[in-house]
Amino acid sequence: MRKEGKYQVRGIKIRTMNYAMILAAAVLYVVLIYMTYHISVKYEKLTQATEDYIRCEKDAAMVREASDHLTDQVRLYTVTMEPQYMEAYFEEKNMTRRREKALEDLRGYENGPEAYEYLEKALENSNQLMEREIYAMGLIAAAQNRDLSSLPQEVQDVVLLSRDEEMGPDEMVRTARDMVFDDGYEEVKELIRSNTDYFLNAVMEWTRDRQTGSSLELKKIMGQQRICISVLFILNTITFILVITLIVKPLQIYINCIKQEKMLEIAGSYEFKYLALTYNDIYEVNAANEVLLRHKAEHDPLTGVINRGAFEQMKELLKASSDPVSLLIIDVDKFKNINDGYGHEVGDQILKKTAGIISEAFRSGDYVARIGGDEFAVIMVNCTKEMQPVIQSKVDNINRTLQNPTDGLPKISLSVGAAFSEKGFSDDLYNKADRALYKVKENGRCGCYFYDENH
Ligand code: GH3
Ligand code: MG
Repeated sequence: MRKEGKYQVRGIKIRTMNYAMILAAAVLYVVLIYMTYHISVKYEKLTQATEDYIRCEKDAAMVREASDHLTDQVRLYTVTMEPQYMEAYFEEKNMTRRREKALEDLRGYENGPEAYEYLEKALENSNQLMEREIYAMGLIAAAQNRDLSSLPQEVQDVVLLSRDEEMGPDEMVRTARDMVFDDGYEEVKELIRSNTDYFLNAVMEWTRDRQTGSSLELKKIMGQQRICISVLFILNTITFILVITLIVKPLQIYINCIKQEKMLEIAGSYEFKYLALTYNDIYEVNAANEVLLRHKAEHDPLTGVINRGAFEQMKELLKASSDPVSLLIIDVDKFKNINDGYGHEVGDQILKKTAGIISEAFRSGDYVARIGGDEFAVIMVNCTKEMQPVIQSKVDNINRTLQNPTDGLPKISLSVGAAFSEKGFSDDLYNKADRALYKVKENGRCGCYFYDENH
């Protein structure tokens, strides 16, 4: 087993990428939520400004309406002299109190002091008129000679000027009417109107400033929000591309390599590269083992030439061939005597030496196999009967070498039986070669015999 961290791998780690993307996305989402909160605050400010304006307008209207109502009632009273109008007047002054309530509503309110001042001035003007109006009502009461105790306290408290006291009732009524209809009265009324107008204009300006400020801030935050969403989109796209390049693509590459039984390409993230290197290492070891195992399965461990099993497979394969094939069966002569005389180990060395000499003598395309204890075979593809002299000479050379050893091993000789097939490895080729070998053994060994159907 290889130790962890053996490979020097360069690449982006999926884990690192994951953490970075999660962190970046989390930060952006928090910023977005914060911005959404800010937008709601600004929006509230915007609506608050409008609501404030509506409220101020209502209050100003209340002051004006209340003042007009008082004027209407006092005028109606001086004209008709019916007490209901006086009652309505004092009900507005003391009970309904719309002017005072409107100002109370505005007090402790955040609008500009100047604006508030205008409405206070309007109230002052209205109160100024009130003195006139109550005096006029006092004059009417005096003209009617009414019981003072049934009248409102304010009228009871009116102290008529001596010149007015001396007037007759008609003149008193006329004077009272003049007081609430003359130019002086109208001037003050005009002052009330213009002061409420000033107030409304100032409030309008103040509202516009607030709305402009809020909408500018709103625009700014929404712009920042758009940037944030764009960055989030870019981040998502980068994550998508990274997932493709670091995970999906390498997986496809790896699957293709595995399908094609190839080593893996080193691609993708750090983890995938590490995995590929580990896989490739195991792949290499397995491939080497496989070669070794196949070699072991096909070769004879003592001599190194192919074994009986592989020889049989070769035979089967060549049965389907249309090329001419020849087969030699080679047997060591009197090998038992070697084993008995020199020992098994020397016997083994003789077998090794024999295999080596046979392999050297034939072409590299010929197949040399050990098919028994001291028995070898040579399969020659594309070899016809014309090759007989060549084979004969090769066998003679081999026997000459083995008869004149220079390595200290005992002399031996080989008997070789050969047979030819014109088309592939025919079913009887082995038997023919074996019969030829038998002939050599019969005729004193150390030689080569080619199968002949007539003998
Ligand atoms: P012949 O000339 O008739 O072939 O006589 P021979 O003594 O060679 O007889 P045969 O071929 O039947 O004997 C083969 C002998 O080879 C029998 C066995 O003891 C020996 N042998 C088989 N395998 C091995 C081996 O792996 N190593 C050794 N040293 N001897 C083996
Ligand atoms: Mg033998």
